[in-house]
Order: sequence, then C-alpha cells, then structure tokens
Amino acid sequence: VVKPKGRRPASGPEGPTNRRRPTGNQILKLLPRAAQEAIAPWLEEVELRQGESLFEPGDGVTHAYFPMNGTVVSLVLPMRDGRAVEAATIGREGAVGGIVSLGHKPAFARASVQIPGQAARISVNRLETAKRNAPRLHDILVRYADCLTAQVLQSVGCATVHPLEARCARWLLMTHDRLQQPEIPLTQEALAEMFGVARTYMTGIASALQRRGAISYRRGVIHIERRQMLEDAACECYRAVRGHFERVLPGLYPTVEL
Ligand SMILES: [Zn+2]
Repeated sequence: VVKPKGRRPASGPEGPTNRRRPTGNQILKLLPRAAQEAIAPWLEEVELRQGESLFEPGDGVTHAYFPMNGTVVSLVLPMRDGRAVEAATIGREGAVGGIVSLGHKPAFARASVQIPGQAARISVNRLETAKRNAPRLHDILVRYADCLTAQVLQSVGCATVHPLEARCARWLLMTHDRLQQPEIPLTQEALAEMFGVARTYMTGIASALQRRGAISYRRGVIHIERRQMLEDAACECYRAVRGHFERVLPGLYPTVEL
C-alpha cells in the first residue's frame, strides 16, 4: 500500500474514480503483495463525515469500508425510543460492512461515523472477487470477523456488569489506539448517547476522570492526559479484546505505547 501523495484523487478510464492506494488501515497493510494487488485497483478513497450513517438496519450493504488512521465508525443499535447504543468501535484495525457474508446482505446495525476522516471503500461484489483471487485476504477478513465478534461479545458482558466509569475508560483507550493521538474530537453528549445514558450522568463520570488528571475536556475535545490512569480505571474488557486481536491477527491491533 503506497502512501497517497495529495488530496486530489486520480481517476482513469480503466478503473473506478478516486483510484489511489490509501494508507493507514492495518488490514490493508497486513496483506501480502499479491493480495494488495487483488484489492488495490478497486479501493476508492472517501471522506466520512461525523454522524454520517454508512448503512441502516435492513439496508442492503453495497460497500465495505476500511477506516484510515484516525477515522472511527461505530456499529450502533437504534432502539424504538430513539436511543442508539454502541455495540462495536471500528477504526484503522478493521473494516465495516460485508466482511464475512458473501455478496449483498441486509445490515443488522447502523454504521455511524463517530470520528470523521478518510476511509477506503470497495463494493462488496469486488471484495468477493478479490477474496477468491487472494486467499490470504479471505483468511485475514475471517480472522478479523472473529475479533469483531469478540469485541461485541465482550461488550455484552461489559454493559451488563461493569460500572460506567470503567466502560468509559475502556472506550477512551480503544479510541486512543485507533486515533494514535491524545485528542478525541467528541462531545460529552455524543459519549452519553453512545453509552445510552443521560448526559448529566456521563458528565459526572467525565468530571471524575478529569479531577484525577486522566483526561481533560476543552471545547468538544477530550484530551487523554495520563493513559496509564485510564488503563487502571478500565475494566478487564479492554485487555481481553486487545489480547484476542493480538493472538488471532498478530500485528493488526494498533496500540499506543506509554
Ligand atoms: Zn468491561
């Protein structure tokens, strides 16, 4: 995968528009050369806007998205009362949409852009062809799907038995890993919404973390001040999921060194 040189996409008559080789996604980076060549011509670089929905429950999934460095997409479950709770956080270590299933399938969750940025996308039909031509691509995506399932399973347990502060610390660590920078551009309202709790409750949790110096919060941006404090405050779920990623797909999970 070659680092793109400019922001203006190149296009040609032989392939889709925006034909470039985007960088920063760990799945694409992990692919051997033959597999990269099978997928690269069909990757299209797109800008994802904050709050944008890539698909809604029931929608036919037409594209798979590979978030680039700093882009985070959440799989959320919209409820009838208007709340929408996060089930998985996907960034540069992963992909969203049509990853396991063959061809078009209805989406079960909403894919909502949490932190805006670039992503590479490919039509699910092209992805199927690329998987057939490059068994390693197929293997990596199957393994990634296992890791994503682990994340969702862990979140079920986490939401049931762990206190909000520990869950919040876990989420901040996961997002820090995916952004590779200490500033998380997210409002406390958005954070509260993601956990399905009242804003005042979330503000109390964020204030407690802030008083201890773990984070600070300025103008809609959460700053991670002391990661170690978040690691201490987080529940076991952070390490459990990260450990599974490291065993199933070594080199995929982007960690932030202290
Ligand atoms: Zn937990």
